[in-house]
Amino acid sequence: MRRTLIAGNWKMNGSRAALAELAGMAAAAAEHPGVDVVVCPPATLIAAARDARSDVIIGAQDCHAAAAGPYTGCLSAAMLIEAGATLSIVGHSERRTGQHETDAEVRAKAIAVMAAGMTAIVCVGETEAQRDAGDAMPVVAAQVAGSVPDDATADRLVVAYEPLWAIGTGRVPSIADVTEMHAMIRTRLSAKLGAETAAAVRILYGGSMNAGNAAALLAVADVDGGLVGGASLTADAFVPIIRAAA
Ligand code: PEP
Repeated sequence: MRRTLIAGNWKMNGSRAALAELAGMAAAAAEHPGVDVVVCPPATLIAAARDARSDVIIGAQDCHAAAAGPYTGCLSAAMLIEAGATLSIVGHSERRTGQHETDAEVRAKAIAVMAAGMTAIVCVGETEAQRDAGDAMPVVAAQVAGSVPDDATADRLVVAYEPLWAIGTGRVPSIADVTEMHAMIRTRLSAKLGAETAAAVRILYGGSMNAGNAAALLAVADVDGGLVGGASLTADAFVPIIRAAA
């Protein structure tokens, strides 16, 4: 009942030339209609990506909470939609850390994304020190409580669990740890949004997902897809993950 979603986050990588990679990704998406394939390029490439491939869902990497105003360098949900995005990542750990975004700010961004008619991918995840201290579960539970809007609906909300120590490191948590964390996230979503909505929300795993580990991670009961960084930059790396999800 939950469609698998494989989302690529290009971060601050890529140029117009990189959009050539979308052809292979789009072909894989067409081969596997049961998988939603998303690419989140830098904002400068959203319109060109949308024009290049209507068969890949194009997303943004961030969205400001306000509709308009004196926010130099920021982009509103309406601007992202006009460019061609239909969803937006919010609260990625690189923004929580680098831009000091709080749970309240992430929630405000998610509300703006959803109110505009887009889907928000709300990112949560613990640091290595928090996991080593045995605090991974309460840290992520608090992020879910603080970052997910209270009235989120399953068609407008995706949650991505991304342990910070797994992002870009080649390290991934054990299958047991992923299983436990995703189940806990769904339980927390159920308490917040109700059992029916929580059962329909997709929870993605992110952090060094690649062709070698995708099948095992995607086989976990409450893993409904992946948020992929480095391995989403080329079709050669991304397409095997799409295939593993099918
Ligand atoms: C990410 O930053 O969202 C991510 C999952 O990166 P990577 O796949 O490179 O670890």
